[in-house]
Amino acid sequence: MLPRLGWCQRWQATRMELVMSDLQTRFSFTNSVLELEDAGYDSMGFCIEDSEICCLECDTPHPVTAVRVGGMIRYENATGEGHVFALACPACAAKGLLFAGPEILAGGAGDVVTALASRARQAR
Ligand SMILES: [Zn+2]
Repeated sequence: MLPRLGWCQRWQATRMELVMSDLQTRFSFTNSVLELEDAGYDSMGFCIEDSEICCLECDTPHPVTAVRVGGMIRYENATGEGHVFALACPACAAKGLLFAGPEILAGGAGDVVTALASRARQAR
């Protein structure tokens, strides 16, 4: 249980760094994130874990196909391409954001990001 929580907390920290650095350099990205939060995607958020989506509100992992994808922001920064997904948990109905930066692709979760991106396109 504890290593998994640590993993989630690490991505929360990544999210804070991302938002902080973007506040300085990319207002449009930050505004897009704030708009999603205004639209109700304001839970603790989600992280990717073992090719599944972990809801930080109820601490439950879900298959990518079970999570509702409400939208997607694509961005690029100095380290590469990243995505922010607006997701809804099928278990507790929490709506929140998943930050998938370039380091997540490098960490081997590229298949999950690809699956989420294609589901986000279908949702439009
Ligand atoms: Zn949940």
